[in-house]
Amino acid sequence: MSIAANERLALENRLRHALIAGEFVLHFQPLIDAHTSHVVGVEALTRWQPPGEAIISPGKFIPIAEDTGLIVPLGEWVLRAACEQSRAWMDAGIPPLVVAVNLSVRQFQSENLVGMVQRVLEETRLPATYLELELTESMFVAQAERSIETLNQLKALGVRLAIDDFGTGYSSLTYLKRFPIDKLKIDQSFVHGLAHDANDREIAATIIAMARGLKLDVLAEGIESEQQLEFLRQHDCDYYQGYLFHRPVPAAELEKWLRKHSVPQ
Ligand code: C2E
Ligand code: MG
Ligand code: MG
Repeated sequence: MSIAANERLALENRLRHALIAGEFVLHFQPLIDAHTSHVVGVEALTRWQPPGEAIISPGKFIPIAEDTGLIVPLGEWVLRAACEQSRAWMDAGIPPLVVAVNLSVRQFQSENLVGMVQRVLEETRLPATYLELELTESMFVAQAERSIETLNQLKALGVRLAIDDFGTGYSSLTYLKRFPIDKLKIDQSFVHGLAHDANDREIAATIIAMARGLKLDVLAEGIESEQQLEFLRQHDCDYYQGYLFHRPVPAAELEKWLRKHSVPQ
């Protein structure tokens, strides 16, 4: 117990230092339009790069940042860096891309989220329609009324809202009709089973049909194989994301690919 607690405390201190020292980097993974095969957006995924050490994945540090409240300043850094990058690509003549940024529960509940998002958009000069915030179902469990208010305020700024990891969280469907959501991202656990698991196929097909009926966009994440893609194509999924198209990589590494695969102007 106490070794684990000490390790955690040490990690917490390192994280605090990392934020000040600028040790976080963003990788970007393309989001593909199923009908045109063009890249229409990128998801920003955060990595921690301590100098001289191996890169650390968000699964390791986001939960600790969340527990300690560090996620609030880290999340603001992520949002600003993602918007700055998107704006820089725009200025470099790449057709406009939506940049998707993950929000954590603690960030979503923080008092000044809406003001922070508005300020970052203004400071980075990114039009709000090119920012998509990724939320998770678990954010809406507590304080549904307050959630709706926050979402309406974010919507009023003009940003897009997506539900990440859809199908794995709190499963009330009521919020889908009450909340101003634009997109569902089918969780990758269902996508992984598409080639061999009849239940995953049924769940994915149902989510796509439901999104269609509710007039929401639908994206499948974690696509790795042609078989998975073929199933999603047959069921008319709108957007794709996964290693089959591109892994998340640093911005500089993606630029050439973006030019080649973006909407011709
Ligand atoms: P997520 O938002 O659902 O992001 C998708 C994850 O799936 C990413 O993992 C991505 O690298 C991975 N992925 C993409 N395509 C494939 C594929 O074809 N196969 C497989 N096996 N994996 C694929 P990553 O970057 O390790 O991030 C994990 C999670 O950490 C994210 O899941 C998100 O919940 C969280 N996260 C990442 N960056 C941030 C951030 O800036 N803020 C917050 N709050 N959470 C973040
Ligand atoms: Mg995400
Ligand atoms: Mg996800």
